[in-house]
Amino acid sequence: MTGSALAGDSKYDVVFIGGGPAGYVGAIRAAQNGLRVACIDAWRNRDGKPAFGGTCLNAGCIPSKALLESSELFHRAGHEFASHGIRVNAPELDLAAMQARKAGIVRQFTGGIDALFKSNGVAGLAGRGHLLPGNKIRYTSHAGEAELLEAEHVVLATGSTPIELPFARFDGEVILDSWSALDLPAVPARLGVIGAGVIGLELGSVWSRLGAQVTVLEALERFLFMVDGQVAKDAQRQFKKQGLDIRLGAKVTATERGPAGVAVTYEDASGRHVLEVDRLIVAVGRRPNTDGLLDPLAGVHRSDRGFIEVDDECRTSAAGVWAVGDVVRGPMLAHKGSEEGVMVADLIAGRHGHVNYAVIPSVIYTAPEIAWVGQTEEQLKEARVDYKAGTFNFAASGRARAMEQAAGLVKVLADAATDRVLGVHIVGPMAGELIGEAVVAMEFEASAEDLQRTIHAHPTLAEALHEAALSVDRRALHAINH
Ligand SMILES: Cc1cc2nc3c(=O)[nH]c(=O)nc-3n(C[C@H](O)[C@H](O)[C@H](O)COP(=O)(O)OP(=O)(O)OC[C@H]3O[C@@H](n4cnc5c(N)ncnc54)[C@H](O)[C@@H]3O)c2cc1C
Repeated sequence: MTGSALAGDSKYDVVFIGGGPAGYVGAIRAAQNGLRVACIDAWRNRDGKPAFGGTCLNAGCIPSKALLESSELFHRAGHEFASHGIRVNAPELDLAAMQARKAGIVRQFTGGIDALFKSNGVAGLAGRGHLLPGNKIRYTSHAGEAELLEAEHVVLATGSTPIELPFARFDGEVILDSWSALDLPAVPARLGVIGAGVIGLELGSVWSRLGAQVTVLEALERFLFMVDGQVAKDAQRQFKKQGLDIRLGAKVTATERGPAGVAVTYEDASGRHVLEVDRLIVAVGRRPNTDGLLDPLAGVHRSDRGFIEVDDECRTSAAGVWAVGDVVRGPMLAHKGSEEGVMVADLIAGRHGHVNYAVIPSVIYTAPEIAWVGQTEEQLKEARVDYKAGTFNFAASGRARAMEQAAGLVKVLADAATDRVLGVHIVGPMAGELIGEAVVAMEFEASAEDLQRTIHAHPTLAEALHEAALSVDRRALHAINH
């Protein structure tokens, strides 16, 4: 853990409690702004060693993407190479090597934060922070030594933890949270997943590509309720084709551990069912880490669900105390937390800072990827906004065809009166990268015509976004305009 020049001091301009993407990024920006900064973080990895980076680097975004990439390559080698005219023997899985690669990437990135803290002069403190009244912090190191820190400003960035179901308690072996699900030492023959959200689908995809028979149980009737309906339907069709068994309207009511696995009882419209699986992942959401964080006299209000209440600029109810990331309202996304950390660090330093909550991209890193920004068609209808919609199928994209990944579509929604882009929704190859262009366009309040008149290199996947924008005015050049 970082031992910067400031470690040992007890007075700071800003102390961040929590060193995930919201806290560590904010701490770096605060130090860049010339402030004296400490960042306390409680994370310890399986080997007991502390590591900055929070859920995202240690147990979330980074390890999941490493495994998604490896498992996708494994799947392609077995199922897709032949269509390119490449004959290989059936690929053999070396899961230990795959897991070691993932662990190496995580180590490199968490170690990178130590280096960034050192070079920016942030004091990285391993242990727990507890907010006391008057912007004082009790910092307790992992060795149990307590120290009192004082700060002009405190930023709470303690993140979130997987929600546990009372009838499916995590045991780290058979009933798994998302972190344990990333560390499985063997591919289960039958894997159950409770929750068809982002995390459930990504983890289900990893193990399905590596050979598990995956069944996903989702209580809601609608698949991916937060995603544009047309895009969600397309994705659902593609997942089904891949062999993911997604059961909607399936409410799990009980689990029972047996000698080798677990029996999962669920109810749907047709009655009561029991699903036998070897491993069960519970991915039903995350709750904010605020228990034991706040002295009752510190003056920081929490919502009924435990989130720290903040205004649009992340100020809490206590003067000089701010809160950012998963611990406050809004989507639980690393980039949203980081931008809040940066905004707060800039505001504390007297600079301009803001987060445009209307333009936060979301990505689901399945294959195909799903990515979106702005409003869905359903949201626009509900808000009675008069809009125009344009779509383009990757089937007509030369690059997607060359990549053998031509399923999916891009959809652009624009205001009927002003032509301003209101939402972009993608299911298809590299959707998570493609959405970046839409985010910039929306941030600069672009119109569909702006996208239409922007030159896109040929042949690229980005041409699909260009054509979807053209299709908004029925002027697509490589599709029939309806
Ligand atoms: C499997 C999985 C995959 C994900 N993939 C993505 C993705 O691809 N893209 C994306 O944007 N998001 C993804 N997320 C969500 C993302 O990880 C979170 O939104 C992000 O980590 C939130 O950042 P944070 O800094 O608010 O909190 P966290 O990353 O949770 O960090 C909070 C830190 O605070 C520490 N802490 C808690 N209490 C205290 C205390 N009292 N004192 C000191 N330290 C404390 C915690 O130990 C932790 O280290 C994923 C999550 C999971 C689980």
